[in-house]
Amino acid sequence: MLHNKKRLAFTLPAVAIAASFALPASAAVVASIKPIGFIAAAIADGVTPVEVLLPDGASEHDYALRPSDVKRIKNADLVVWVGPEMEAFLTKSAAELPANKNLEIAEIAGVKPLLITGADDDDEHDHAHDQAHGAADSADHDAVDEHHHGQFNMHLWMSPEIARQSAVAIHGKLLELMPQSKAKLDANLQHFEAELADTDKHIGAQLAPVRNKGYFVFHDAYSYFEKHYGLSPLGHFTVNPEIQPGAQRLNQIRTQLVEQKATCVFAEPQFRPAVIDAVSRGTNVRKGTLDPLGMGISLTKDSYVKFLSQLSSQYASCLNGA
Ligand SMILES: [Zn+2]
Repeated sequence: MLHNKKRLAFTLPAVAIAASFALPASAAVVASIKPIGFIAAAIADGVTPVEVLLPDGASEHDYALRPSDVKRIKNADLVVWVGPEMEAFLTKSAAELPANKNLEIAEIAGVKPLLITGADDDDEHDHAHDQAHGAADSADHDAVDEHHHGQFNMHLWMSPEIARQSAVAIHGKLLELMPQSKAKLDANLQHFEAELADTDKHIGAQLAPVRNKGYFVFHDAYSYFEKHYGLSPLGHFTVNPEIQPGAQRLNQIRTQLVEQKATCVFAEPQFRPAVIDAVSRGTNVRKGTLDPLGMGISLTKDSYVKFLSQLSSQYASCLNGA
């Protein structure tokens, strides 16, 4: 054993040198999910590359890091994510990063007062109901719920104001790490803020005519956007797309559809569950799609506003139709 350790000590420097040559020469900004990558790409444009961990089509609630992801996180100049209550898969790797390379959006001082409560009494009721009837898997569901849903709704990238504050925070972190790029970073932040303000006005005008139209969304991802633009959601099928909605929840939604309270039900490109078709069968409700992660939008300095505009058009095209 001792002999082996000695040999290891002798060979380690050579191994370490070889490994350092194998690593990418310049690290990058690594974002947990696409929309956060969009914000980072606006600020880092022309300064440093931005990479996104979550692949298109995967769920932000249910991802496991690959070994290559762990390597990217270790080598990153900066990791940007919401926080452990959203991307549980990042908690362990992010804890090993130095503070100046780790940006949790939920921890930004100006963001905290903007957080919206995410607790959902109806879902708890559904779980209690399931348990009373001895549903075999309800204990698992509760465990998942507890894991992903703390006190607040953590889909923070849906808020234009939180996005702006995230951009300011990313700008601040990159400025510390790359002070030589100050002029470009300042210009990028200015461009992002101006573009966001324009887009915000445009979306406000686009959604004004549909503000009073009721609808259901598939999962509870849109509260920040809905509150910001004054929309009228009637509810969601589930808080976490990995959890099947309870029978009681489906009955409540079905009743409101039959009573023609809703104009639309929205699925997501990541999830097209049969329950949405089942619940809306025989009613006049329209079916739309909302993409909470900007699938198919590539990373450029303008992608975040594209993402918001796409979401707005997805709402408007379904809600306008009736
Ligand atoms: Zn979600």
